[in-house]
Amino acid sequence: MSRQFFVGGNWKMNGTTASNEALIETLNGAEIPEDVDVVVAPPAIYLESVRKALSPRIAVSAQNCYHAQSGAFTGELAPAMLADLGITWTLQGHSERREYFHESSEFVAKKTKFAIEHGIKVIACIGEKLAEREDGTTFDVCAAQLAPIAEALSAEQWADVVIAYEPVWAIGTGKVATPDQAQEVHAYIRAWLAENVSAEVAEATRIIYGGSVNGKNCNELAGQPDIDGFLVGGASLKPEFVNIIAARA
Ligand code: PEP
Repeated sequence: MSRQFFVGGNWKMNGTTASNEALIETLNGAEIPEDVDVVVAPPAIYLESVRKALSPRIAVSAQNCYHAQSGAFTGELAPAMLADLGITWTLQGHSERREYFHESSEFVAKKTKFAIEHGIKVIACIGEKLAEREDGTTFDVCAAQLAPIAEALSAEQWADVVIAYEPVWAIGTGKVATPDQAQEVHAYIRAWLAENVSAEVAEATRIIYGGSVNGKNCNELAGQPDIDGFLVGGASLKPEFVNIIAARA
């Protein structure tokens, strides 16, 4: 089975109205290969303006959302609010949220399930820290982060999930995983899905790589059999994002 290539841009807490407009102009003018899904995740305050200005060819994602429809949850966003604005994706479990906002894998799984149940697809982020890689526990860490998601979701709900493998030591550091390092973990994740969910889900689920991807290193990574795309931080704010979108072309 060939999985559609998927490229996400995580703008994190960056941008202004003016810089967003410039980026959107670049994206709207880009030639996007037909067989690539492209999604950008601006900060929450810009979701509506970005959705309105961006070509419908590119989907818009939130960076987070909560597991309730509405209510007394100050500072949070409901999936229904995202859907109301034409936002179709959300990130969940980005390492910055796990680290700075103490999000547990169980909490990430709960929000993932709720988002999917309310029509929002999820880019679920997992990945080990440097000390964990050095200790040889990369696979265990990934499995432990995946397990609550697998417990929460039905087999059908996996159709609305993309897994982003993002080694924390590679995020924003300029230290990209080698194609072999990334492929090894992606293959492990796919085998884990086969064993713990189903062979069909393992075959169909996109597993994308994130961590210092740029216009120069994307082609070799994209050539790996289990790398189905990228989640891009820093380089998604630059014109080279367009080259990353075309990495497999
Ligand atoms: C990210 O934030 O998900 C990310 C991968 O960042 P960067 O590309 O800057 O390493």
